[in-house]
Amino acid sequence: MLPIHPALSIRLLPRRAAVLAFVACATACALVGCGEHGAGTRGEGAGLSTAGEGKPSVVATTPVVADLVRAIAGDRAEVTALITPGVDPHLWAPTRTEVLQILEADAVFMNGLLLEGRAGDAFARVEVSGRPVVRLAETLPKADLLTDAENPSRFDPHVWMDPLLWARTAPAVRDALVKVDPAGKEEFDRNLAAFEDLARELDRECALILSAVPPSARVLVTAHDAFGYFGKRYGLELRGIQGISTESEPSLAAIESLVAEMSERRVPALFAESTVSDRSVRAVIDGCAARGHEVLLGETLFSDSLGRAGTPEGTWKGMMLHNARSIARALGGGS
Ligand SMILES: [Zn+2]
Repeated sequence: MLPIHPALSIRLLPRRAAVLAFVACATACALVGCGEHGAGTRGEGAGLSTAGEGKPSVVATTPVVADLVRAIAGDRAEVTALITPGVDPHLWAPTRTEVLQILEADAVFMNGLLLEGRAGDAFARVEVSGRPVVRLAETLPKADLLTDAENPSRFDPHVWMDPLLWARTAPAVRDALVKVDPAGKEEFDRNLAAFEDLARELDRECALILSAVPPSARVLVTAHDAFGYFGKRYGLELRGIQGISTESEPSLAAIESLVAEMSERRVPALFAESTVSDRSVRAVIDGCAARGHEVLLGETLFSDSLGRAGTPEGTWKGMMLHNARSIARALGGGS
């Protein structure tokens, strides 16, 4: 009988035991502050097998990612969204329980491009095991991505704000699901085609709604730079009080410069976002008022998250339409 290579023997551990070994190590390392895990923890993945009976269990990071994965998976997979609606993905870090969910999943879907910038290395560890980890936005050609004006080496991760661009990440979801459930291929193909139709219809609807905004008012001022792809697609000039991430606070100089520009150009409205503190938004409104320019606070937009489950904004399509209508109304584009 051939001897089993030590690395292979670790890979053959039952997934649960290996996962617990990793979590224990991760916890210990967090306590003592070490940056690297020891060699004994590299086998947390136990191969491609699913948990056994029943449907594959897959996890998605944000509610937007989970919405897409559910659309393609239909009833053939259990899809868990790790980040609850209203939580800022830029600031999210998985809890111990969520790390366990990631490590035990048959496939993992995330936005990527550093949207989940504090997610840690649990996702990379699933990759080591050979199970699919799909960073949706990173499947798009770099030429189609926007870059951060302040940091040109960094890409804007908010690709779901352009329906057609987001739909182009959907084949990667289908491909990963086929890997864990080959028998579902036909259904995944059908669901993918339906999702692409939905995205095209949504795009037409958003374009129609926003076409009513007069040219002089086509400036979209939001709490952070989440609407770059939206603005590019629908012809709106963008101003974010914070940059493409919410990890740092906006500077006073940035707020003052925005106040000056909005007052000078008589920009009629600005928008808070459901996942971002509205403190800086209110500072801009107050600053404009002090200069004699009254700014309307539009309805809160959904940028990096969906609304509550069961509400119209609890789906990607619903939140996009909510945003388009709220922006059009506040910028003078109808009721
Ligand atoms: Zn964001």
